Amino acid sequence: MDIKDFRFDGTKKFKVKKFDTKQKGSFDDRVEAEDRRDDHIMDLQGLQDRLYAEGKEGVLIIFQAMDAAGKDGSVRYVMSGINPAGVSVHNFKVPSSKELSHDFLWRAMKVAPQRGMITIFNRSYYEDVLVVKVHKLHKKVPLPERVVTDDIFEERYEQIKNYEKHLHQNGFRVIKIFLNVSKEEQKERFLQRIDDPARNWKFSDGDIVERGYWKKYMKAYEDAINATATPECPWYVVPADRKWFARAVIAEIVVSTLESMNPQFPEVSEERKVELLKFREMLINEM
Ligand code: AMP
Ligand code: MG
Repeated sequence: MDIKDFRFDGTKKFKVKKFDTKQKGSFDDRVEAEDRRDDHIMDLQGLQDRLYAEGKEGVLIIFQAMDAAGKDGSVRYVMSGINPAGVSVHNFKVPSSKELSHDFLWRAMKVAPQRGMITIFNRSYYEDVLVVKVHKLHKKVPLPERVVTDDIFEERYEQIKNYEKHLHQNGFRVIKIFLNVSKEEQKERFLQRIDDPARNWKFSDGDIVERGYWKKYMKAYEDAINATATPECPWYVVPADRKWFARAVIAEIVVSTLESMNPQFPEVSEERKVELLKFREMLINEM
């Protein structure tokens, strides 16, 4: 599998219609993919240790997708096996009135990663160019007239791009992942949520309503991805009809990004080594 196939950095266009959501790369079966995934989780542990110890760069991983595409499971998966002290997760829900009283990036900026940390966004400020665009929600919130123009989403793409560039230039990596699930697969997963009592809680009435806007959402995703994909802060469109394949791809994306950052444990100076030996002696000779 080559994650370059799923990487969008502005040089090629992402087209929803041309994207195969069912693909499973070169993996013959699920077992092979899961083995590879486990290897990656081991690599991830070591890389995260070094990222944390070095404390210079931080990582932001954004998951965006339609309902039931596997966002929660993907977040849980990336978290599995990594040190909870070095990672935080934020879910972006319908904004509160307090959040709406600020600019749309504010609530995300407040929880942006620290150096040495991995921060995961389950949904993000991209909702402000997705659900908001699809339902024209910007017309229902207190915004000045001069702002509510036909250009508002073009302007927001630019603002998002600038913000992500700002993060990158200040030592943070931004990885954006769109879990691309098909409408048919979503139907299957909704049916499972309805048929399995243990999963009933996952289903909300609004899910069916949003499903009705599928085409508009796909267009909004396509536009947002194409407008905000850059070499520094690329989008990855991950085929999500097979959960096991999606997770294998996600693992590879996260690991390869961290590998390219190549974090290092801080070097211990000769002076410090001498000091440490003294402390060692003190401990050994302790009464
Ligand atoms: P869930 O992720 O299923 O818990 O649902 C969260 C809901 O919040 C989704 O329906 C999102 O579309 C919605 N949401 C997130 N951010 C925004 C936003 N900025 N404006 C409106 N709705 C949003
Ligand atoms: Mg939902």
